[in-house]
Amino acid sequence: MNANELLRDLMAAWDVPPKEGGGLRMSSAGNRARRHAFDLGGYPQGQTTQRAQVTFATGDLLHDYLRDHLHERLEWAEVTDREREVVSTVHDIDIAGHIDAILRDKRTGERLLVDIKTMSHFTYVSLDPEVAGQPWYKQRNNKARNFAFDASRVLPGEPFARGYLYQLASYWAALTDDPPHGDGEELDGAFILCVNKNTGHLAIGTFDTATVPALLAERDWQWDAAINAESPYELPICREPTENKDGTLSPDIRCQYCPYIDVCLATESVAGIPKIYKGVLDSRPK
Ligand code: SF4
Repeated sequence: MNANELLRDLMAAWDVPPKEGGGLRMSSAGNRARRHAFDLGGYPQGQTTQRAQVTFATGDLLHDYLRDHLHERLEWAEVTDREREVVSTVHDIDIAGHIDAILRDKRTGERLLVDIKTMSHFTYVSLDPEVAGQPWYKQRNNKARNFAFDASRVLPGEPFARGYLYQLASYWAALTDDPPHGDGEELDGAFILCVNKNTGHLAIGTFDTATVPALLAERDWQWDAAINAESPYELPICREPTENKDGTLSPDIRCQYCPYIDVCLATESVAGIPKIYKGVLDSRPK
């Protein structure tokens, strides 16, 4: 057996290809304008870091496991519209997305949009007030939690939660708005099912649908900037890098998960962590 060959082939298990091609997608509604502009321009997507690949892979596995569990195990509810495609027309561009499911309570007839999000402990505790600030090892019981999910929950510096809100708002609008912008569907509400990947804790964030117009306005601001830009390089980088003790810069965590990092920020990988070298940001093509 050639051990190197075996390991190389097994490492390919972490390769998570982009789910959809370039262009604007509801699933990436939380991204900033520069990233959207790379999507719109059809720039080549590179290999993300191994850390990002395994994070995506475990997140996808957990996500699908819970979605199937919802589908198969809830006696009091019927789960419909699994992975249903929805489309919104924004600035004459059709933007597609896939909802996780609609849950119908058989007892009340209530129909709720469900979005499942697997997340790190850092993001989870930033959303759930009962456990906010607690280190993961202090959360011993597995009591499920329930909280209101709105923009006031999103702490400054937490890079992902606002994107969850934009996605939920996009799905909600695509389902409930009148045609041609939506399907004109009647729904009673929406929630995000939060899964803490580090502890297994679950929480339900009840979405405040009254906030949808404000969230869509914020989302559209980023999309508009991308659509109107002649090149991604004229847009500000999405998140400022952090400066290391040795003077190098490390990209923000969102950049480390971004498939355009190679064409956007010139980096070198040191011990698996990409670093940006001083001066590189200013020398990028304009
Ligand atoms: S590498 Fe960072 S700054 Fe560049 S497009 Fe991706 S997220 Fe934005």
